[in-house]
Amino acid sequence: MEQWILLGMAPVFLALIGLEAWYWHRRKQGQYSLVDTLSNVALALMHQVADLLAWAVTIGLFYWVYLHRLLTVPSTWWGIALLVIGQDFFYYWFHRAHHRIRWMWASHVTHHSSERLNLSTAFRQSLTYPISGMWLFWLPLAWLGFEPTHIVAVVAINLGFQFFVHTQAVGKLGWLESVFNTPSHHRVHHARNARYIDKNYAGVLIIWDKLFGTYVEEDDADPCEYGIVGQIHSHNPITLTFHEWRELLRDAGRAAGWRAAMGQMFGPPEQARSHLDAVAANDPRLAKAAPGPDA
Ligand SMILES: [Zn+2]
Ligand SMILES: [Zn+2]
Repeated sequence: MEQWILLGMAPVFLALIGLEAWYWHRRKQGQYSLVDTLSNVALALMHQVADLLAWAVTIGLFYWVYLHRLLTVPSTWWGIALLVIGQDFFYYWFHRAHHRIRWMWASHVTHHSSERLNLSTAFRQSLTYPISGMWLFWLPLAWLGFEPTHIVAVVAINLGFQFFVHTQAVGKLGWLESVFNTPSHHRVHHARNARYIDKNYAGVLIIWDKLFGTYVEEDDADPCEYGIVGQIHSHNPITLTFHEWRELLRDAGRAAGWRAAMGQMFGPPEQARSHLDAVAANDPRLAKAAPGPDA
């Protein structure tokens, strides 16, 4: 079902990407590059296949948990509204965990590794999310009493909504900024400027960031610089999918003892040995990139 919601929206997504690319082309601004967009599309297709398999494997578990549920939430309008809000709450924690735990960041880094930000960046996902344990974050919803197929659908709707916040073509949106995740909030999330890193994890509602202390407003005086701290400079979907996993396994293998190895796998990404080595070696990928001719 989830696949059909996102596939059904695919023509809208593609049309808007075309429109946005044309908009920037007319303004002679290189927000798009063909190779970057093609690599985003390839990553989206790889992710969709993995996601379909992951749901096929885990849906039985969701129904098992649902059988042992606390309550039964009816499929009324308010039941669905509760599910949308509840799923968005767990999305916040899914997203925060995927930035702060390296085992999860190894999947999520793919979404952040483009030095551009446009609607096609929303397509940039990793096929390794099921290994990182994304599905774990929706399991409490089944335990609370939401029907598993409804959970799958609402996860897809949340992701579908987030397509629209991946753009530099839209400024601030008035009162909507105080309640919803907006393009402005999500630009901050994709920026690697020190004050913007690990902020604005919101899916649909920005209120979670405000409640849990991770909210930062976009400041025109500090323009967003997109990408990750150690830029990857690759358009190869395989490299983009697996580079952090490779480093993670290597760092864990080199660690002195199992405690240190666990720290490399499940600690914060900035304490990874490969990251600290890059800092010590003054790796140019860590430096702030000079604005390119099309920036
Ligand atoms: Zn993120
Ligand atoms: Zn994003």
